[in-house]
Amino acid sequence: MTQKKSILLAGNWKMNHGQKATDTFLSSIQIDSKESATLRLYVPFLSLETGIRVAREKKIPIEIGAQNLHHERSGAYTGEVSGPMLAEIGIRQVLVGHSERRQYFGETNETVLLKTRNALDQGFEVLLCIGEHLSERESGQTETVLKEQLARILEDSNCMAAFGSKLHLAYEPVWAIGTGIVATPEQAQSTHAFIRSLLIKGIGEEKALRTRVLYGGSVTPANFKELLQCPDIDGGLVGGASLKPESLQSLWNLI
Ligand code: PEP
Repeated sequence: MTQKKSILLAGNWKMNHGQKATDTFLSSIQIDSKESATLRLYVPFLSLETGIRVAREKKIPIEIGAQNLHHERSGAYTGEVSGPMLAEIGIRQVLVGHSERRQYFGETNETVLLKTRNALDQGFEVLLCIGEHLSERESGQTETVLKEQLARILEDSNCMAAFGSKLHLAYEPVWAIGTGIVATPEQAQSTHAFIRSLLIKGIGEEKALRTRVLYGGSVTPANFKELLQCPDIDGGLVGGASLKPESLQSLWNLI
């Protein structure tokens, strides 16, 4: 890669930090803006408005995004939240296809495609998560799984057009999420290079190089710098280490 990386550091709070904790967190964080890096937090639905409000009041250079959305704009989907509802409160970024959504809420490559396509249609920026399970890595299936997870996306003209601007990827080996077992920089780089090659084949080199491919899975301030030095890693999607202001701040300071 010859062009300068545009880094995204994104925290995924999962089902942590309600409105009060979000207010306290953002009120205590010290974040400088950086020319070629973006900081974002994917927070629980109920904390979105608090996050937006406090970030605005305190002038914190941070984007607040949602962890999920329903692919339909409205309708009989009890308990779900739609894109227009998120847009109405000022949300512009959504996470789609996190492995916990796939594992606990039955999301498939098909529903992930629907969500991605419809979110893009509604103007959201999508960070789409892919990654293999431990048994798949151990049986040499990593590349097949990733290829399958991206296959329909790379056949969809709207998704293809959005790569590099409104659509970016997070590679999260499922065995590394929340386990404390981080992929080695060599493992991560070789998988990211494979993902980049799929993108180059599907959407051409120029767009593929503009697409951020984040690494996620037990990222901490102790291992982030080395991961960031890998040529095909454009940032991190961070769960546990994004939950404390000082730890998120340390990660940001490493960029
Ligand atoms: C995640 O939730 O996307 C994640 C990578 O979690 P952790 O950093 O805790 O492994």
